[in-house]
Amino acid sequence: MTKLSVAIVGAGMGGLATAAALHRSGIGVDVYEQASKFTRLGAGIQIGCNAMKVLRGLGLEGLMRASAFYPRSWNNREYDTGEVRFDMIFGEQAEARYGAPYLLGHRGDLHSALASAVPNELIHLDHRVVGIDERPDRGVTLRFANGKSIEADAVVAADGVHSFVKQQLFGQDEPNFTGRIAYRTVFPAALLNGYEIGDCTKWWGPDRHIVIYYVKPDRSEVYFVTSQPEPGFTVESWSAMGDVNELRKGFYDFHPEVRHVLAACPSVHKWALIDRNPQSHWSKGNITLLGDACHPMTPYMAQGAAMAIEDAAVLSRCLQGVDRDGVAGAFRRFEATRKERTSRVQLNSRTNTWLKERTDPDWVYGYDAWNEPLATREAA
Ligand SMILES: Cc1cc2nc3c(=O)[nH]c(=O)nc-3n(C[C@H](O)[C@H](O)[C@H](O)COP(=O)(O)OP(=O)(O)OC[C@H]3O[C@@H](n4cnc5c(N)ncnc54)[C@H](O)[C@@H]3O)c2cc1C
Repeated sequence: MTKLSVAIVGAGMGGLATAAALHRSGIGVDVYEQASKFTRLGAGIQIGCNAMKVLRGLGLEGLMRASAFYPRSWNNREYDTGEVRFDMIFGEQAEARYGAPYLLGHRGDLHSALASAVPNELIHLDHRVVGIDERPDRGVTLRFANGKSIEADAVVAADGVHSFVKQQLFGQDEPNFTGRIAYRTVFPAALLNGYEIGDCTKWWGPDRHIVIYYVKPDRSEVYFVTSQPEPGFTVESWSAMGDVNELRKGFYDFHPEVRHVLAACPSVHKWALIDRNPQSHWSKGNITLLGDACHPMTPYMAQGAAMAIEDAAVLSRCLQGVDRDGVAGAFRRFEATRKERTSRVQLNSRTNTWLKERTDPDWVYGYDAWNEPLATREAA
C-alpha cells in the first residue's frame, strides 16, 4: 500500500494538532497556511484535561506544564459581592480524576508547542487556498493564491469559522453574530503592584462577565476576557484594538478585584463573538472539515480549541491503515464518532451557564480521544 498523502488547510490549533497526530502515525502530511508568519497573539487559553490527554499523546505534556499555569480551581463568583457560586476545583484532585492536568496558558505557547511537533518542512506558509477540486482518479487538488497547486489523496480543512472549504463543499451561510463582544488582553502581573488576585475567576454579572487568570507558571502574566452586549459590532480580528476606558466604564460596578485588574491593564483587543448551529455534514468524498470549520462555538466553556485538538486524535485513528479508496469512509466514521459530542458542547456553550452553579463536568473533562470507541464502520 502506498503511503497516504493528506493536505491540511490551516495551521491553527486544529490543523497543527492534526498534522502532529498524522505525522506520528506515519501518514504523509503537509499543512498549508495563508499567513506568511506565525504571530504571538495576546490571549490566554484554558487547556482542559481532555485536551491535555491528546497533547500528552503528541509528546507535548512536558512543554505545556513548563510554560502554563496550574490553577487550584476555576472559581465562579458574583460580580459585585464576590460571593462564591461554584468553585470548580482543578489542581491535583482533577488531575487524578481525569488523568491529566487542567492548565491555563498563553495561546502563543500552545500554538508553538503544537508547531514543534510538526517538522518545519511540512508547514507551508503564505499558501492561501483559493480553489479545491476532487477527481475520483487523482485525489484532491488545492490551488493557492500564490499561483501554486498540489494534489493529495485527502484534504482536512482546518481553516476556521469562515472556512473557505466549507463554503465550497456546502455553500455559503453567515455565522450567527451573538450581539456580544469580548475584550481581552495579556499583560505583566507586575502592573498589579502586588495586588493579589485569584488563580482563575469568572465574575458573573447580570448581562456581562469577565474571566481573569494567570497564564505563566510563575504568575508573571495575567489574562482576561469579557463578554458583554454590543449589537452592531461585527469585527472579528485577533488584532482589532478596543478602548480601555470604555471597558472600565462597562465594569464600573464590579468587585474591587475586577476594577483593580482593569485599572492596571494598558490596552485591550476587541472581538465580536460568533458561533454556528451544528452542521449536518462535515465531509464530502475525500475532503473533511475539522475544528472551528465545522463546529465553531462561543468561548463560554473554554472548549473550542479542545474540541479541535480532540478531533485531531480521533481523525488520526480513523485514517490508520486506510488507503485513498478508504478515505471517504474514514471521514464519515470520524464525523459519526465526533458529531454528537461537539454539537453538545456547541449548544451548551451558547447558553453561557457552564460552571455557573454546581455542575458535573465529567462528560467534558473525562473524555479520552485516544481511547474513546470509534463509531462502527456501518454507522459511518
Ligand atoms: C475570545 C476567545 C477565547 C477562547 N478561549 C478558549 C479557551 O480558553 N479554550 C479553548 O479550548 N478554546 C478557546 N477558544 C476557541 C478557540 O480559539 C478556537 O476554537 C480554535 O482556535 C479553533 O481552532 P481551528 O484550528 O479550528 O481554527 P483557527 O484557530 O481559526 O485556525 C484556522 C487557520 O486557518 C487559516 N486559514 C483560514 N483560511 C485559510 C485558507 N483559505 N487557506 C489557508 N489557510 C487558511 C487561518 O489563517 C488560521 O491559521 C476561544 C475563542 C475566542 C474567540
